[in-house]
Amino acid sequence: MIVVMKPEATEEHVQAIIDRVEHVGCKTHVIVGADQTVIGVIGDGRSIDIRQIGRMTGVENVVPISKPYKGASRQFKPSDTIIQVGNITIGGSDLVVMAGPCSVEGRTELLEIAHACQEAGAHILRGGAYKPRSSPYSFQGLGEEGLKYLAEAREATGMPIITEVMEPALVPLVSEYADILQIGTRNMQNYALLNAVGKSNRPVLLKRSFSGTTEEWLMSAEYILSHGNNDVMLCERGIRANETETRNTFDVSAIPVVKHLSHLPIIADTSHAAGKWEYVGALTRAAVAAGADGAILEVHQQPDQAWSDGRQSLKPERFAQLVTEMRAIALAVGRDVPLVKTAVPANGQTQPQELLATITAN
Ligand code: PEP
Ligand code: MN
Repeated sequence: MIVVMKPEATEEHVQAIIDRVEHVGCKTHVIVGADQTVIGVIGDGRSIDIRQIGRMTGVENVVPISKPYKGASRQFKPSDTIIQVGNITIGGSDLVVMAGPCSVEGRTELLEIAHACQEAGAHILRGGAYKPRSSPYSFQGLGEEGLKYLAEAREATGMPIITEVMEPALVPLVSEYADILQIGTRNMQNYALLNAVGKSNRPVLLKRSFSGTTEEWLMSAEYILSHGNNDVMLCERGIRANETETRNTFDVSAIPVVKHLSHLPIIADTSHAAGKWEYVGALTRAAVAAGADGAILEVHQQPDQAWSDGRQSLKPERFAQLVTEMRAIALAVGRDVPLVKTAVPANGQTQPQELLATITAN
């Protein structure tokens, strides 16, 4: 519920409400406006008597949150959530570009593609060390060895890393290495896993189930938020429809819908939607135009040799071109795709200014 305070309500009146609802285990989010303060309250509604709250001093009115998801709803928190990962801001006016291979395949391969992605304009490096494959006989990922290579690539480039975690028991280990935890489409309703990442101290990218409705997706986000982890970003990665030319159907409408219903950032994964690299560019441009807060893209130096998802992986040159196009569209809709700013001196090899110069020159 939302408790709207009277313009003349004092800080003590606001605190009395907070104390009352937190005492019965609810959580609060206070928004101090120019004229009025509003308190968002979430938790088990059975423990609060709305009429009693309405009668407390300084309260103007109490409005129940109509959606089943509470903390994820815009009613609860009208302002956009902004997530800080190192010096990258997700959910503000700048768009974020995450890129890298589907799977971490080896140390040299990862370092090479990490540098290529960064030079092309990526801010965050993606790569799976634990892979949710449709066949148990397919490559399942390098596991912790892959996480170590990702950490090394972060050291070398300064780019934060995002990688998938598939089971609750592995959340502590993956969190030791990763800057962002990815929940894959197949695990959107794995509540034990959502609880575990909710208790972690890492931002989470929650992919939409290929069969999930927006409401189910936001309810899954609610699980993570309910443990106090507010750094949740949603990821539209295509849903299953009748079409077979693409791997999934990119639901571009999910972007404005989610933006309307929720304050959480939304990232477009057009690689897993398209399934074919030829369509990734157009879908990504559409996502930026529709208001996505960024994209996560699969990039591989030799897509035909990739251990997984090569068919949908962009070559670094094509990816670089796409980032330029994303920037042009972002600027047209009042946003930006900032030039690389994650670069740290990697063994003295790459200085941010040199990188900026390379990108600007290209
Ligand atoms: C991936 O990111 O490589 C992946 C397996 O994604 P999804 O869960 O969307 O299929
Ligand atoms: Mn993949």
